[in-house]
Amino acid sequence: MGKPTGFLEIERELPARRPVQARLRDFTEIETRLTVVQARDQGARCMACGVPFCHSGCPLGNLIPDFNQLVYEDRWREAIDALHTTNNFPEFTGRVCPAPCEAACVLNIEGIPVTIERIEGEIADRAWDEGWIRPLPARERTGRSVAIIGSGPAGLACAQELARLGHDVTVLERDDRVGGLLRYGIPDFKLDKAFVDRRVAQMEAEGVTFRTGVNVEGEAALAALRAEHDAVVIAVGATVARDLPIEGRELRGVHLAMDFLVPQNRVVAGDSVSERPHAEGKRVVILGGGDTGSDCLGTSLRQGARSVAQVELMPQPPEHDPLAWPDWPMILRTSSSQEEGGERDFAVMTKRFLGEGGKLTALEAVRVELVDGKLTEVPGSTMTIEADLCLLALGFVGSTLKGSGDGVFTCGDARRGQSLVVWAIAEGRDCAAQVHGFLTA
Ligand SMILES: Cc1cc2nc3c(=O)[nH]c(=O)nc-3n(C[C@H](O)[C@H](O)[C@H](O)COP(=O)(O)OP(=O)(O)OC[C@H]3O[C@@H](n4cnc5c(N)ncnc54)[C@H](O)[C@@H]3O)c2cc1C
Ligand code: SF4
Repeated sequence: MGKPTGFLEIERELPARRPVQARLRDFTEIETRLTVVQARDQGARCMACGVPFCHSGCPLGNLIPDFNQLVYEDRWREAIDALHTTNNFPEFTGRVCPAPCEAACVLNIEGIPVTIERIEGEIADRAWDEGWIRPLPARERTGRSVAIIGSGPAGLACAQELARLGHDVTVLERDDRVGGLLRYGIPDFKLDKAFVDRRVAQMEAEGVTFRTGVNVEGEAALAALRAEHDAVVIAVGATVARDLPIEGRELRGVHLAMDFLVPQNRVVAGDSVSERPHAEGKRVVILGGGDTGSDCLGTSLRQGARSVAQVELMPQPPEHDPLAWPDWPMILRTSSSQEEGGERDFAVMTKRFLGEGGKLTALEAVRVELVDGKLTEVPGSTMTIEADLCLLALGFVGSTLKGSGDGVFTCGDARRGQSLVVWAIAEGRDCAAQVHGFLTA
C-alpha cells in the first residue's frame, strides 16, 4: 500500500489550474502538472484496499494501487511499465478521463478519493520526459494484414496492439489528420494535440501505416477491403449527431456543436478556415448540458462571446448522492469550462427558433418537470431566450458505417455508442485480442 497512515495525514490535492483570465486568452491546456513531491504524497494516500473497487471502476482494469505504491516509492519507471500493461495511452486518460475509478475509490465514501487520474497522467508525462517511452516493434512478423477503419482512440489502441503482435496494420482515416475525436472533438485546452502526434509517431515506428483522406463508404467498399486484408476492424466512432428538427432550425446561427468545435481545433492546428460559426460578440445558447456542451462553452468564451448560456432539458441533478458508491453518481458537476463563466439552466425544452431575415434572434422555450418519470411542460412557463448563435450539443445517434461477417470486427463508439476515451482504448485492446485469435486460430 502507499503510506499506511497517508490517507489520515495528507489532504487530497489536484494540480493547479491556470487562472481563468489567463486561460481564456488562449487554447493552451488549463491544467498544470503535479510536482514529483505532490504526486508522491497523493500516491501515499492509497489504502491498498483488500478489494480494490477502483479496479472495477476503471474500464481498462488499470492496476491502480500498484502504480500508486510505485509513485509513493519514487519508482516511476516501474510505474509506467505497470500502467502500460493495461493502457496504451495514459497521457490521454490522465487528462480527459472523468475517472470512474475515483468515484469507486473507498476514500470517495468521504468525498476525498485518491487523485488517480492525475497520478496516471503524471506517470505518463514523466516517462515521456525521461525518454522511457520508445517504439516497441515486433521481433517477428506474422505476414497477416489488418485494415482498421477510423483512427480515434479505439482504432489507435487496436492498431498498436496488433502491430506489436507482428501483424501488418493499416489505419484508414477519412479526415486529414489522425486521432478521431482526440484530434477534432476534444478542445486543445483539455488535450494538447502534440500528445496525439507523439503517439502516432511511436506507432509509425512500430510499423503501423496511416492513410488519411480515405473514406470507407458502404458495403462494397467494406467488402473490397476485407478481400484485400486478413481482417478488418471498424472503429469509426459514433459521429452522427442528434439534431433538433423544430421550427426555425434552418435559420442562420443554428449549428451542430461539432460544426463549431472542429473548425476551432483546425485553427489551433494552424489551418486557415474560411467560414465557420464564431461566437465573438454573440449571445450564445448551447442546448445540451453534457461534456460536448461544456466544450462549446469554453470555446465560446475563448472566442469572445458576449454571453453564454448552457441549457439542459433534464432537471438539475442533486449535488451529492452518497448511496451511489462505488458506482458513478448522477450528480451536478462543474466542468473546467463551466467554472470559467456562462450561465447554466435546467429543465428547459426548446419549442422553436425565432429569427429575422433568415437569422436567429431567439429561442422560444418552456420549463418542464418530471411527473411520473415523464418530462411534462409547466403550464404558463413559455419564455424567450435571446440568441445570435445556438449550438446543438444533444448527443450522437450512431455510426456512418456498419458491417459484420467473418473477419470483420467492431470496437469503440461504433460498437457501444458515444462513450469515453477510456472505453474506446479498452475496446480497441479487447478487439485486438479477438483479431489476433482469429488470425492465429
Ligand atoms: C466534443 C467531444 C468532447 C469529448 N470529450 C471527452 C472527454 O473529455 N473525455 C472522454 O473520455 N471522452 C470524451 N469524448 C468522447 C470520446 O472522444 C469518444 O468516446 C472517443 O473518441 C471514441 O473513440 P473511437 O475511436 O471509438 O471513435 P472516434 O474518436 O469518433 O474516431 C472515429 C474515427 O473514425 C473516422 N471515420 C468515421 N467514419 C469513417 C469512414 N467511413 N472511413 C474512414 N474513417 C472514418 C472518423 O473521422 C474518426 O477519426 C468527447 C466527445 C466529443 C464529441
Ligand atoms: S483510465 Fe480513467 S478510470 Fe481508468 S484509472 Fe485512469 S482515470 Fe481512472
